[in-house]
Amino acid sequence: MTEPPELRPDQTTGMVCAHHHLYSALARGMPAPPRTPTSFIEILEQVWWRLDRALDADTIHWSAKLGALEALERGCTAIIDHHESPSAIDGSLGIIADACAEVGVRVSCSYGVTDRHGADGARRGLAENERFLSEGGRGYVGVHAAFTCTDDTLERAADLATRFGVGVHIHVAEGADDAGAADRLRHLADDRWLLIHGVHLADDHGLAGTIVHNPRSNMNNAVGYARPTRFANPIALGTDGIGADMLDEFRVAYARLREHDVRSTPDPVWAMLDVNRRLFPEAGDDRVTWSYEPMDPWRLAFSPGVRPLRIEIDGDVVLEDGLPTRVDATEIRAKAAEAAERLFQRLEDMP
Ligand SMILES: [Zn+2]
Repeated sequence: MTEPPELRPDQTTGMVCAHHHLYSALARGMPAPPRTPTSFIEILEQVWWRLDRALDADTIHWSAKLGALEALERGCTAIIDHHESPSAIDGSLGIIADACAEVGVRVSCSYGVTDRHGADGARRGLAENERFLSEGGRGYVGVHAAFTCTDDTLERAADLATRFGVGVHIHVAEGADDAGAADRLRHLADDRWLLIHGVHLADDHGLAGTIVHNPRSNMNNAVGYARPTRFANPIALGTDGIGADMLDEFRVAYARLREHDVRSTPDPVWAMLDVNRRLFPEAGDDRVTWSYEPMDPWRLAFSPGVRPLRIEIDGDVVLEDGLPTRVDATEIRAKAAEAAERLFQRLEDMP
């Protein structure tokens, strides 16, 4: 295999999103929840845990396809996804992987196991991770969060991940309600784990793994600032389902860091994008040619709107003149909008 050519000043390797929820791509415009949520837990209960219950195979497909398209259009060639669809668990990860493959974007899948729907729901979630990984799928073992799982489920998930030589992809201490997660996970976690959020972790939490910082989502849910530079762990950058525009998330992360410490340079946040690439090394073979040069953190921190003009993934041109080559973006948007209407109707009908 020949080495990819050197990067020009207007090029980078593929951007990686270290934590995404492709299933939320259809959520924009969804009906308002029955009551206005006033806390992080109520946001989960009244928005996301209703949406995920309403998903079926068709809406999983179109949300993944729309999310993959939007990732590609922003220069993100590799997505680390975390999925939950309690009414349609079996085969859900395959649907997501296939939709991303059609668009041409790399994906790592995981099903977020939880005991929220009883022991049988947890068992089926574990089985979906196992099925996907045993068929050669690229992924992690997903867990929603320690606070919605029994110790037995957490141990089973960790064992399954060890068996497949992968990590566990889990939300950790996102809200104050999950601040006790570290004590329940410390003996299970290893360096391959992805610890999402970590807002309420102690500085010396003692968990092995990469912490994934999601600054925009954390602000949106009012869970607090993670102050990610305080941790000894590698720190990656995710969007938590709000698109996959990693340059935009970089700018948000930098603005939030400056608000916390006005002396900070963009470099600690730019370094998070390198951690992302280490989580998905294949993206290093991808080439993104941008509308701006040079692709330098100090400039990009203050340059909204930089967009990819051409993208090669694994040697294939998947975006040319800013347009995807493998799929019809207009058609995907139209079909996704129809699927969203069906999803919204189910939400309206939900008790
Ligand atoms: Zn998340």
